[in-house]
Amino acid sequence: MEDIKPLSFPGISPKRPLVIAGPCSAETEEQVLSTARDLAKNGIQIFRAGIWKPRTRPGGFEGVGAEGLPWLQRVKEETGMLIATEVATRQHVEEALGAGVDILWIGARTSANPFAMQEIADTLQGVDIPVLVKNPVNPDLELWIGAMQRLYNAGIHRLGVIHRGFSAYGKHLYRNMPQWHIPIELRRRIPELTIICDPSHIGGKRELIAPLSQQAMDLGFDGLIIESHCDPDCAWSDKGQQVTPEVLNYILKTLVIRD
Ligand code: PEP
Ligand code: MN
Repeated sequence: MEDIKPLSFPGISPKRPLVIAGPCSAETEEQVLSTARDLAKNGIQIFRAGIWKPRTRPGGFEGVGAEGLPWLQRVKEETGMLIATEVATRQHVEEALGAGVDILWIGARTSANPFAMQEIADTLQGVDIPVLVKNPVNPDLELWIGAMQRLYNAGIHRLGVIHRGFSAYGKHLYRNMPQWHIPIELRRRIPELTIICDPSHIGGKRELIAPLSQQAMDLGFDGLIIESHCDPDCAWSDKGQQVTPEVLNYILKTLVIRD
């Protein structure tokens, strides 16, 4: 993957941290737009929202599906933010591309599955779009790199990764163990690769977002992807780990960036 360069986006400062923020899930048009407007007011330039949600067990909220894509388009038109969403199947990729999504991300349950990764890579053949690959749920660096390689071999060279921690059995401080040595080893092997930390999914609790974000910055990560919702306590997924755009702004302001 010798062609991998740090990700950059026109109009977005190359200074650390690159910030992506938005709700875990797109729920309603109003929730998406109200969150996006407040994030834009606070200077956020890349908006995330899950349209298709991979849930551990059936019966939970599995995302609004393609119905939510026009809401993301409205975010882009109204605020000028870039829009990002998660894709896991050929159909998701086709629908997201059709809706003008700017950045795709691959979820942790998908990057652990070579068949799914190959299907996504095949669908993206010949498309020029940045893709962020979350670490697989299990702490397997080779599987993480392999997921990236499938995309790279399909011609996706604007690649970055998201460190969202690794599953462990039982109750712990973290929802997903950071195991920082794994992304650090990834940086050693592919120094140019953009590495973004997801303190929301590592911590699983809003009070851990600030310390995890600071830790990621101190370890030299390039960016942060943080879940932000206009009314976190009423979120339809991951409510314990989302913060309002105002709280997000406060967290980002208090970060100390040491280069
Ligand atoms: C998400 O970003 O909302 C998500 C589902 O994340 P992960 O794949 O890290 O669980
Ligand atoms: Mn989430």
